[in-house]
Amino acid sequence: MEQKESKRILTGDRPTGKLHIGHYFGSLQSRIKLQDEYEAFIEVADVQALTDNFNNPEKVKSNVNEILMDQLSVGIDPSKVTFFLQSMIPEIAELTVFYSNLVTIARLQRNPTVKTEIAQKRDVFGESVTYGFLGYPVSQAADITAFNANIIPVGEDQLPLIEQCREIVRKFNSIYGETLKEPEAYLSSNKRIKGLDGNEKMGKSLGNAIYLADSEEVIAQKVMNAVTDPARIKKDDPGNPNICMVAYYHNLFSGGEVKNICEECKKGKRGCVSCKKQLIKNINNHLEPIRDKRRYYEERPELVKEILMEGTNVARKEAARTMEKVKFAMKLDYFKGE
Ligand code: SF4
Repeated sequence: MEQKESKRILTGDRPTGKLHIGHYFGSLQSRIKLQDEYEAFIEVADVQALTDNFNNPEKVKSNVNEILMDQLSVGIDPSKVTFFLQSMIPEIAELTVFYSNLVTIARLQRNPTVKTEIAQKRDVFGESVTYGFLGYPVSQAADITAFNANIIPVGEDQLPLIEQCREIVRKFNSIYGETLKEPEAYLSSNKRIKGLDGNEKMGKSLGNAIYLADSEEVIAQKVMNAVTDPARIKKDDPGNPNICMVAYYHNLFSGGEVKNICEECKKGKRGCVSCKKQLIKNINNHLEPIRDKRRYYEERPELVKEILMEGTNVARKEAARTMEKVKFAMKLDYFKGE
């Protein structure tokens, strides 16, 4: 067995919905690779999910197992990674309180990732964002440092969150003494997958996603409704695959067939219906082993619970060690040895 690097990765997902193929190509594939190279901690970020779903705790709770099963079904191996539940690690909340003294409101408001997200969540927050949501980069810094993670896989749009964490670490160390590790961003390929409707983003609320757990029938229905070249009326009209979402998904799932598909489309030698049927077949072939594995876990809820509990116990011990160092540095180590 190959030796893993001693560096530690921290990554995770908010349990607000099942994972879709945007997550699969964007982050899960990279996790599958990284689990063999580094020590990995994967967080089910239920506390963070509550920052903009505080009024819907049932949604968060019901998705904890779903996103865990999605990850297990694509091949993330619990014997290689530590899965843990954020709300079961109180040290993260405690660190968040300590770190909140080290960051100003103005700095959080200037964080480009936070700014963009607040603008996208006007329906949740209206004109005034909550203290919890504005401060989620602080809680994220607590997630990262609680486990001494030094590598954080992110997309380019999340780089400001890592920078904010690094600032908090530097400030902490400069005031209280060298205690915390400064993390580095690991820019994963993190390609963003467009929705079936052509929207730049695939998402549950947009109704344009293909979920890893979707049945064959559901995938067939969704692909049949995907946006194609609107100028194409008759089967022998020359098409433009560059503006067709079916061609876009063929690029992800149809390997060597893509060149031929695009050429036939451009020459008007390919009907959109048969083109969609071919895509449905290829997506289903790709997702079949994932669905089979998911079924295995769906039939064993106790095993899923055990994986999360065991990982959480490991993570809790790690966070407790960090907390001890942090409290010592902050002169909060009362009653020690008494
Ligand atoms: Fe899209 Fe295929 Fe129709 Fe061309 S033939 S427009 S690639 S669905």
